[in-house]
Amino acid sequence: MSYIGILEYVIGVIHDKDIWYYVGEKDANGKHLRTDERYSSFLVDAKRYDDEDVLRWELEKLPKTLTCKILEIQRCPKCKKEFTEHPALSREDNATEICPQCGVREAVEVYARYNKAS
Ligand SMILES: [Zn+2]
Repeated sequence: MSYIGILEYVIGVIHDKDIWYYVGEKDANGKHLRTDERYSSFLVDAKRYDDEDVLRWELEKLPKTLTCKILEIQRCPKCKKEFTEHPALSREDNATEICPQCGVREAVEVYARYNKAS
C-alpha cells in the first residue's frame, strides 16, 4: 500500500509531554470504546482521516479539556515508516524531508565519516 500523494491526518492529544492518538469512538468491529480506550500512544491505532473537514467536525465533539492537534501522516522516503513529527531535512540533498530518526542516523553517519577522514 502506498500513500504517496494522499495525505492522511490523525488527531493527536497532548498528554503531559507525550502525544496520544485518537482512536475513535468505536473499534474496527463497531464496538463502543470506553473513554480511556479512545486514545493510544501508537500511531498504528490512530483513526485516520483523509478529509480535513470530517476531522475538524470530530475534533469539535472531543472534550474541550483536551489539548488536541491535527497531525499529518507522512511517509519517510528512506525507511518507509510513517511518522507525524516534524520532518528532518536529508543531508544528502538538503531538500528531501525524512523522519526524525533517519535525520539523527544521517547526522551520526556524517560525523563518523568526518572522524575517519581526519
Ligand atoms: Zn525514516
